[in-house]
Amino acid sequence: MLTVKNLEKSFDDFKAVNRANLDVAEGEIVAVIGPNGAGKTTLFNLITGMLKPNGGTIQFKGEEISSLPPHRICKKGVARSFQVANIFHRLSAFRNVQVSVLSQQNKSMTLFHPAKRIAVQETYQILENVGLLDKSHKIAGSLSHGDQRILEIAIALGNKPSLLILDEPTAGMSPEETATTIALVKNLADAQGLTILFCEHDMDVVFGVANRIMVMEHGRTITQGKPDEVKKNQEVQRAYLGEE
Ligand code: ADP
Ligand code: MG
Repeated sequence: MLTVKNLEKSFDDFKAVNRANLDVAEGEIVAVIGPNGAGKTTLFNLITGMLKPNGGTIQFKGEEISSLPPHRICKKGVARSFQVANIFHRLSAFRNVQVSVLSQQNKSMTLFHPAKRIAVQETYQILENVGLLDKSHKIAGSLSHGDQRILEIAIALGNKPSLLILDEPTAGMSPEETATTIALVKNLADAQGLTILFCEHDMDVVFGVANRIMVMEHGRTITQGKPDEVKKNQEVQRAYLGEE
């Protein structure tokens, strides 16, 4: 579904992404791991079109997307959440998701299409799928940190993506919220057939949910493979997992 080859992004002379490679097959849950500053967020910004690469290619469903603007990439079925939750704090959870469903349908609220009546069922369905149905009419800014981050996933789902990209989905969450989020990610992949690409620093989360793992360091891809293979990789053990 997604093939990233020799991707490069420099900020001035600094190579934040330095010939990175990544393969994501349809239906997989793929984790990108690596220390702070490895280039994970920059990689996601490149894939979603928020940054333009200096070199390399990004193919989504066989089509080169690296020169497309973010909204075009989004329409092709790539949606994301951010490392820091990105929601409308003063709108209800319902309205946050409804806006995204409407934009996917190229609709907006007008005099003739009052917000009360459009995309209501789809919006409730998404809120139910992520477990926020009972909080639909709460103001987003009043939700717990964990629920705000789940709401952000719901907003991404409003775009009806085939590839969902999550930047540290459990960052700042309590252990209970983390468990809920892992269960949600698994459910989105299993029950709804979504392909999921995420980065994460918590190794328990990574090895609990990922089908495949790509390891980054200094913008480079050290290795990618099945969790067991990655665990056995000596360079990875030294750098990230700590030697036993
Ligand atoms: P990660 O998400 O793996 O922690 P990032 O992709 O956020 O890493 O950052 C990789 C490196 O690129 C870091 O050293 C960071 O300081 C640098 N960087 C990221 N964005 C910018 C930017 N817009 N301008 C300059 N340097 C940046
Ligand atoms: Mg990051």
